[in-house]
Amino acid sequence: MTSPYTRLETQLVHAGEPSPRIQGAVEMPIFQSSTFEYQGEARYDDVRYLRSNNTPSQVTLHEKLAILEGAESALVSASGMAAISTTLFALLGAGDHLLAHHCLYGGTHDLVTQEFPRHGLGASFIDATRPDTWAVHLTPRTRAIYVEAMTNPLLEVADLAAVVRFARSHGLISIIDNTFASPVNYRPVPAGFDLSLHSATKYLNGHSDIVAGAVAGRRDLVDRIRHQANLLGGALDPHAAFLLKRGLKTLALRVRFQNDSTLAVARFLEAHPRVRCVNYPGLASHPQHARARELFAGCGGVLSFELDGDARAADRFAQRLRIAAVAPSLGGVHTLITRPATTSHAGMAPGERRSLGISDALLRLSVGIEATEDLIEDFGQALEARPA
Ligand SMILES: *Cc1c(COP(=O)(O)O)cnc(C)c1O
Repeated sequence: MTSPYTRLETQLVHAGEPSPRIQGAVEMPIFQSSTFEYQGEARYDDVRYLRSNNTPSQVTLHEKLAILEGAESALVSASGMAAISTTLFALLGAGDHLLAHHCLYGGTHDLVTQEFPRHGLGASFIDATRPDTWAVHLTPRTRAIYVEAMTNPLLEVADLAAVVRFARSHGLISIIDNTFASPVNYRPVPAGFDLSLHSATKYLNGHSDIVAGAVAGRRDLVDRIRHQANLLGGALDPHAAFLLKRGLKTLALRVRFQNDSTLAVARFLEAHPRVRCVNYPGLASHPQHARARELFAGCGGVLSFELDGDARAADRFAQRLRIAAVAPSLGGVHTLITRPATTSHAGMAPGERRSLGISDALLRLSVGIEATEDLIEDFGQALEARPA
């Protein structure tokens, strides 16, 4: 997709919007209609119907997202998991094999470990920070390599440039879940990835009020995914599409503020005597700090940390916070804190969690857009409070 606007901030507001404006409306109306008059469409996928992902609310978002991601084509979906599952089922068939990042988002991990075998699909997990260890997992039926921009909740940064090179040299489709970076901090498609996926529930919408997903990348692949999406049925409804498009307009403002605020909070926590460790790629102490600086414009709004106590102490600390809500999810305007052992990674066996480095006391923080000083003061009071 090309746009007359070359800079991200302007693209966020204007790219893909109807021109001329509909009835002069500065903001595009919501097309709350499931079906549209027949105009001689020849193919099933072209008949205009909400589930077919070709109505005005959806098409406008597709154009905007393709331009933001520097991609040929894009598609929105009813959730991040709809984007991920539809993509994998569109591209892999019985007997095919996937190389997958070893520390996947919980839903994706369960999809690969629990649903893949039922459909005759295979997968091997790789340490995405160590390219020399990948080739041994290849099979004659390996079709794709799937990684995440930053892992949850340890914020590990894979060798993304090596993923692109490896995929090209072995004829694999390269797929990245770019949710944690957002196109403000990293644009995978211009960097060589075939597909960039999002839980648009997080930064793209950014207000914790819808679930949505997105796929951007090569046109031939997005076309296959769109056809699969039309059959599996996880289409985004017009009202959620309206909210997503509204959220997108402030994406750059929000994410850049969150980059700066999160780095300040990370530095405060790291310097505090009651904090054992902080995981944030923006900190010089992070094992992939140099790579993150090379790849990303900023490191986003998520960090994780451990206090000098057990899981109960971590829960008490979280309850003492006045600003952060104790809730899963991330990437919105509200600051949220969660203990992954009880939420995103509760489905994993405790031994598997520990082998990935996720202790029961680890807390994950998603920094919102509240004043940085207020957040730091709030963490300060909760850290200083006498244990109950
Ligand atoms: C939340 C999330 C998902 C799933 O998205 P939903 O919108 O909840 O379906 C996938 N990947 C990552 C990295 C996420 O954070």
